[in-house]
Amino acid sequence: MPVLVFAENIEGKFHKPAFEVLTYAADVAKMLNTTVTALTIGDAADDEISKLSKYGVAHILKASDARLKDFNSTAYANICKQAAEKINADVIIMSGSFNVKALAPRLSAKMKAGLITQVNDLPKTENGFVVRKSVYSGKGFGEFNIKTPVKIITININAYHITENPVQAQIEAFTPQLSDSDFPVTVLEDIRQKGKISLTEAEIVVSGGRGMKGPENWGMIEELANILGAATACSKPVADVGWRPHSEHVGQTGLAIGPNLYIAIGISGAIQHLAGVSSSKVIVVINKDPEAPFFKAADYGIVGDAFEALPKLIEAAKRIKSVQ
Ligand SMILES: Cc1cc2nc3c(=O)[nH]c(=O)nc-3n(C[C@H](O)[C@H](O)[C@H](O)COP(=O)(O)OP(=O)(O)OC[C@H]3O[C@@H](n4cnc5c(N)ncnc54)[C@H](O)[C@@H]3O)c2cc1C
Repeated sequence: MPVLVFAENIEGKFHKPAFEVLTYAADVAKMLNTTVTALTIGDAADDEISKLSKYGVAHILKASDARLKDFNSTAYANICKQAAEKINADVIIMSGSFNVKALAPRLSAKMKAGLITQVNDLPKTENGFVVRKSVYSGKGFGEFNIKTPVKIITININAYHITENPVQAQIEAFTPQLSDSDFPVTVLEDIRQKGKISLTEAEIVVSGGRGMKGPENWGMIEELANILGAATACSKPVADVGWRPHSEHVGQTGLAIGPNLYIAIGISGAIQHLAGVSSSKVIVVINKDPEAPFFKAADYGIVGDAFEALPKLIEAAKRIKSVQ
């Protein structure tokens, strides 16, 4: 049962989700007593690609072509299929990134392969190939047996702990067969936010909800985030009304995050919000309503007005940082 793992890079650099999925794939290969091959697509340089071997994956296929610089789900799915066929992969593993949400279903259709997304744990293989994932917005778990010969799974970001296991990298150039029909869309411009901590990789996240009353009050959230070296996030309604950009919206319909510390300010803790943040290690909630559901999921809580609590927190954080 050879394993293929898609290691996604962003502008030629690999990030935490790629290392998580490599660790996961190396562990699956060990469990199945088989080999694991990583596939990279795009313009990552060899010294960047060789970082992948730190996570137990020695064989790396590198597909590069000027047209592959920007993500394109049609071409990428075709390349993944060809790479899987090259190594006779039975199991294909990807991270649960935005791009993979478009890529994995295409690959599944092309290969007639069963796909389960947002898996949290290693598969059980005693009786089939059974994977576990959260269902009903994190209210429960479901177990799914993938019965097709080729199985595709995507792993929830932050669900699997990265372990280093350095091996000697062997990078093999891989030239897939692509035609113009693989490039139905041309990316004209890719505009990314610069200089901000990436929300999915942040160790600390400071997040605000409707209780913050309006965008003019976000200065306090940003100030606390800056002092703590944190990323900022928000609830869905906050992004819907345009107080914050949608790129900060976390939850069932937004980003799923799992920082070490999640500070939720003026957020009620609706099930759809918790679906995206409940894998955070420590949750701190500030809410003036002692009955707010978020307190049930919190490790620490402040029942009080955010406009009184936040300035005090900011002062305390400044004091702690200045003595460090
Ligand atoms: C299909 C579907 C998908 C959804 N997906 C998402 C999602 O991905 N992410 C998401 O966040 N939501 C999502 N929602 C919406 C979700 O159900 C909630 O409506 C939303 O999370 C509430 O946002 P909120 O907590 O900011 O606002 P509110 O529910 O209005 O809560 C505001 C909170 O602030 C507190 N508060 C008010 N003033 C203060 C103050 N001065 N100091 C301290 N606390 C104060 C209040 O006590 C209250 O608890 C989804 C809903 C549906 C139906």
